[in-house]
Amino acid sequence: MEQLGLLEDIESLAKPFGSLKVLREDLSVVTGMSDKTLDSKERYGHYNQCIPRPDLYNILLARIPKNRLHLGKRFVNFQHINLSNPHLSTISSSGLSGSSYSLGGSEFEKIKARCSDGTFYHADILVGADGSSSAVRQSLYRQLREEGTLPKSDQEDQQYKQVALVGVTNALSPKKYPDLNDEFSHFKITWLMPVAGNRYGWIITRTLDEPVTINSGNSSYADWGPDATDEMSKAVRHLAGPDGGTVGDLIDSTDRHLLSKVMLEERAFKTWYGGRTVLIGDACHKSVPFTGKGANESMLDAVTLASLLYDMPPTNDLGEFHQVFRAYQQSRASIAKQVVETSSQVSALLVKEGWFGDLMRKAAFGLYSTFMGRQRMDKIHAYRTQATFLPFVKERGSVPSKPQAQARNGLASQDHTPRCKLVGHAKPGVQEEHAQVDEFMTLGPNSVSMPM
Ligand SMILES: Cc1cc2nc3c(=O)[nH]c(=O)nc-3n(C[C@H](O)[C@H](O)[C@H](O)COP(=O)(O)OP(=O)(O)OC[C@H]3O[C@@H](n4cnc5c(N)ncnc54)[C@H](O)[C@@H]3O)c2cc1C
Repeated sequence: MEQLGLLEDIESLAKPFGSLKVLREDLSVVTGMSDKTLDSKERYGHYNQCIPRPDLYNILLARIPKNRLHLGKRFVNFQHINLSNPHLSTISSSGLSGSSYSLGGSEFEKIKARCSDGTFYHADILVGADGSSSAVRQSLYRQLREEGTLPKSDQEDQQYKQVALVGVTNALSPKKYPDLNDEFSHFKITWLMPVAGNRYGWIITRTLDEPVTINSGNSSYADWGPDATDEMSKAVRHLAGPDGGTVGDLIDSTDRHLLSKVMLEERAFKTWYGGRTVLIGDACHKSVPFTGKGANESMLDAVTLASLLYDMPPTNDLGEFHQVFRAYQQSRASIAKQVVETSSQVSALLVKEGWFGDLMRKAAFGLYSTFMGRQRMDKIHAYRTQATFLPFVKERGSVPSKPQAQARNGLASQDHTPRCKLVGHAKPGVQEEHAQVDEFMTLGPNSVSMPM
């Protein structure tokens, strides 16, 4: 964010993480930890920042040139095509195995992405950054399955065993909610996170008796649309809320479009690329949010992939793309998997009931003030990846980050060349809608919101 000149904007709208308390449902305190234990600014150069997702989106949207964004588009599917031979318009499914499609490739070989408004685009590669239910991943995996090259574990149905109601309140009175006055954000779990502007970001989670398998039959709009949100809101509004109030008070002070019911999935996929398609973020590794790392990891994927693509020779060769995709997956997959697993462990720890659960939580949080706990945090925070094609920002913090080399191709200059080409048009009269910032809480640029 600092490389992009966004750090000041983010710091002006974010609150630094100050502490965290784990509470029972009656709001009595089990255990906790504070930033003094992490010492993150001194050790890693920055506080962990807490910013509502809509605010982060608005900072990013304000800096992206309008002609670089096509809003309101829904990707449907893709195919590989060869423009030099229209009769071979669908070359193969993935091109991964090389069975019907050799590595190599000419300037005529393209990917053709189709959107629900009837438009389609030709490009050298397709980057699927479309979240946990990624349509790009589904399209890629369908093709790989047909070819017999999709690993078995990636063929299993997706499951979830927790749901959450999430929201960001309007501005509240700091007299009534003194936590909001503090310069730092003091988290309370179940999740209450003071954010800038005298608001709370909040999450209420529920663990289901049985995990639910997601497929086209049961993952309907009715489960996740406005009615489902209202139903869950009713079911949890009686719960104790901050400063003598209830969760109902939080719900009532949250605008309807900033309130959602979400499913909390977790999965680390093995396949991150195939043919001319590559996945980043939740599309290839989805963690439950209890370590506040999902968005951070997604951004690190993007920075790593962009840096590797930047250093590629000027070619449309599929083999060259695969080298880049492979290097990208190699550098990101193990840490992303570790985040999925650690978030899962933290989730299990937080929901464990009774005195034994309390004991385990105390022991786990106590680890952070030990030498071993510090070492673990240092290891995680060593990944302060920078974009290699932009001037590096000064190393901050006493704990060194993993060394990185500046791009072989030198620093980037401003480049407005479009990277994909619109080749088909929507029906006349179809309007592009403006994107809406959505509803979840997410953290700022500097990693975890919560210890692991
Ligand atoms: C309740 C909750 C709390 C969280 N808290 C934190 C936190 O504190 N810190 C943190 O780091 N992470 C947190 N996360 C995780 C974080 O939100 C995700 O890891 C992160 O948003 C993933 O980014 P992404 O870009 O991969 O996917 P997304 O943010 O899901 O973005 C995907 C985008 O693709 C679009 N899209 C989807 N399908 C299509 C399609 N077919 N065509 C075109 N566009 C499409 C979507 O509209 C969306 O804009 C939380 C998640 C949840 C659910």
